[in-house]
Amino acid sequence: MARAIRPHLPELLGSLAPDITRELAALIDQGSRGEAVKVKVIGLLAAHEPTRRWANDLLTVPRRERAFEDLLGDPQRIRVVRYGCPRCDRPPWFRFDLRDEIPVCPDDGVPYEAQETA
Ligand SMILES: [Zn+2]
Repeated sequence: MARAIRPHLPELLGSLAPDITRELAALIDQGSRGEAVKVKVIGLLAAHEPTRRWANDLLTVPRRERAFEDLLGDPQRIRVVRYGCPRCDRPPWFRFDLRDEIPVCPDDGVPYEAQETA
């Protein structure tokens, strides 16, 4: 997904594209060294409305089963819930789909909790 979105960043993000492209490139580098970057890539894409929608469109989830549309209906006001460990400050996880299982913190063994909507 990270590689797939790169050519589309200028049209999706306009003046923000250079910054996001640089962050994404850094994550792709980390990923190619074997680090787990999927959550970070999703977090980066989720932070901006156009890329978030692009990422969502890429997922092969039937539209009616997508979390945002079930919850709100209005595609202009979709919300992705951010989850984080209540005991430490590991990077947040974003729930794009109601069928995604909420992760458990690998350090503390407690489930992530919803923090806010973005
Ligand atoms: Zn933790």
